[in-house]
Amino acid sequence: MTPLDDKIPEKIKRLGELAYNLWWSWTPEARELFRRLDYPLWRRTKHNPVQMLQEISPVALAEAANDAAFVRRYNKVMLKFDHMRNTDETWFNQTYPELKDKTIAYFSFEFGLHNSVPIYSGGLGILSGDHAKEASDLGLPFVGIGYMYPQGYFRQHIPSHGWQEANYEQLDLSKTPIRPVLTEDGQLFKVGIHMGGRHIFVRVWRIEVGRISLLLLDTDVDDNDPWDRELSARLYSGDTEMRIRQEILLGLGGVRVLRAMGYNPDAYHMNEGHSAFLLLECIREKVAQGMSFEEAKAQVQKQTMFTTHTPVPAGHDTFGFHLVEQYFAGFWDQMGISREQLLGLGGHEEEWGMAFNMTVLALRLSGQANGVSKLHGKVSREMWQPVWPSRTVSQVPISSITNGIHVPTWVAGEMNELFTKYLGPNWVDKQDDPAIWQRMADMPDEELWQTHLDLKRKMNNYIRSRTRQSWINGRNDPTQVLTSGTLLDPDALTIGFARRFATYKRASLIFRDVDRLCKLLLDIHRPVQIVFAGKAHPADEPGKMLIQHIYNLAKHNKLGGRVAFVEDYDMHLARYLKQGVDVWLNTPRRPREASGTSGMKASLNGIPNLSIMDGWWAEGYNGANGWAIGGAEFNDYEEQDSYDANSIYQLLEEEIVPLYYKRDRDDIPRGWVEVMRETIRSNSAMFSMRRMVKEYVNGMYVKALNGR
Ligand SMILES: *Cc1c(COP(=O)(O)O)cnc(C)c1O
Repeated sequence: MTPLDDKIPEKIKRLGELAYNLWWSWTPEARELFRRLDYPLWRRTKHNPVQMLQEISPVALAEAANDAAFVRRYNKVMLKFDHMRNTDETWFNQTYPELKDKTIAYFSFEFGLHNSVPIYSGGLGILSGDHAKEASDLGLPFVGIGYMYPQGYFRQHIPSHGWQEANYEQLDLSKTPIRPVLTEDGQLFKVGIHMGGRHIFVRVWRIEVGRISLLLLDTDVDDNDPWDRELSARLYSGDTEMRIRQEILLGLGGVRVLRAMGYNPDAYHMNEGHSAFLLLECIREKVAQGMSFEEAKAQVQKQTMFTTHTPVPAGHDTFGFHLVEQYFAGFWDQMGISREQLLGLGGHEEEWGMAFNMTVLALRLSGQANGVSKLHGKVSREMWQPVWPSRTVSQVPISSITNGIHVPTWVAGEMNELFTKYLGPNWVDKQDDPAIWQRMADMPDEELWQTHLDLKRKMNNYIRSRTRQSWINGRNDPTQVLTSGTLLDPDALTIGFARRFATYKRASLIFRDVDRLCKLLLDIHRPVQIVFAGKAHPADEPGKMLIQHIYNLAKHNKLGGRVAFVEDYDMHLARYLKQGVDVWLNTPRRPREASGTSGMKASLNGIPNLSIMDGWWAEGYNGANGWAIGGAEFNDYEEQDSYDANSIYQLLEEEIVPLYYKRDRDDIPRGWVEVMRETIRSNSAMFSMRRMVKEYVNGMYVKALNGR
């Protein structure tokens, strides 16, 4: 039953059910079904079928129900949907039949599933969302725990002065596939939690992601005081005390919610340290059952896994001991330890003195830990060696599993058709097998190039239509219309750069020598243009300055409108950009980009990377599938920046631009297409979420599920 059922004609009744399971979003036939239902409305709702079915006219629905071809399509999709949900023949069940009744609980502060569910800010969230989707595809016994943020993450607006504005909108939940969890008698399901002397109620929302559920915690309930109701209002906002309360609620509250709902997880995976308080709760539970602290700790270690995601120190939450003490007063007794012992579990020497570090807590108490690329694993072992004073760096027990992307989510529809034609109709099922990608050799240049040009045109049209809409809405002045891409040239070599504006990503590096860049941009025969997008965290002043800097350059007549900044980066815009530009630029200060995933999405769609050898690219680059920036390392930032910038210009001037514009008589850049083909061939299997989740299962989950 869904709230839409009454409106929908009998013959296509289950469209509502389909809209309420995000499986549709990565299933081409299901997407096509909604698209065909009402294409203008599909575009206006940014591909949100729940909203679309609410707003669609009964006439259009009746027409669809009377259209035999549509109903045939509908029946086929529903058959596939039912098969997905009912089949027992999943990879996990076939590989580990003895583990199919177990449960893995996966905790993350944010989940990026679809733009209609704005509870993510960037890479970490998208990774969790992709992980959940793949867990469904592979049939893992998996449940996700996160937060429902009624105001989500902010929408970005950039006024003509270039200083980012952050707008929070109350999310209209009726327009999302999120539904409340209810008790058997239809009441709101609520769990009470003690926190720092207060009693807080948490309600739970559910999102269906294929075969699995995500449970989202929310404190915005009548029983709570206003201060507590605000707790889950927004993603990443508020002070340290708000933050520790959020983390207590996620970690400790999350375990209690699972228990109250009848889940008994056999293994816990913490995506980042935000949820590490769950370790304390798991120990408390076992002590309550009669174990000693040491016994409980040993048991909990067998069941728990922790993934760290950044080598940037500020990315690891730390709290003053007084805060931890305030919120855990008395809890240590229930764990069978003293106050000092509890504080010691997270105690770590920070630059400003000792504090309680969530990463350290997670490392000390979870049985398995990993970083998200080979290089990041190595950096993490160095960084956290002090947690194991008696061990050498190479003995530090942090392994690595390189990130990946959920292939069906990020592949362009047009590219999917091409893969189906040349790799085979079931290429998605074999996506993590490098052998099928060798068939890229059979794909004719003409078709690969033509598909890319179609996607490039689609991106251009999308950017224009967004700009036109905000011009119509009266939100933008002519300067803003100009900077948001109006003068982009559909034929020029287009570089894309879109990600969070954290300073270590060095978004403005390519502007280091503006005159040299201008020569490239304004070349009459071989022009280059750059499209930027991305949000800075609202409290990150240097990040906002970077945006302003680029925005002001984009405005400058000297650059001829060849630099665009498209506002309000989200998953929807991300898909267009990572399918439609020609080159994907990535300029982190090595080794701070633990993995990075946007370049993988571009690569899957045949867009070569121009990137620093950091994170995933240090593993992906093979000399023929894109370009590596720089190489030498300097201690001085200025020196490094100027060396790396010079390398970017040189690569563009000597290799990239000439190759792109070297056309034969039928106007196809054969050499360029060869790089496109090679990027798809060499990276797609290796950086798929399927390869990644299988590695987690085979390397970590199975061990934890077996309690070893
Ligand atoms: C993939 C993605 C990211 C992550 O990008 P990085 O390369 O890791 O910086 C961030 N935001 C959105 C919307 C994405 O799709």
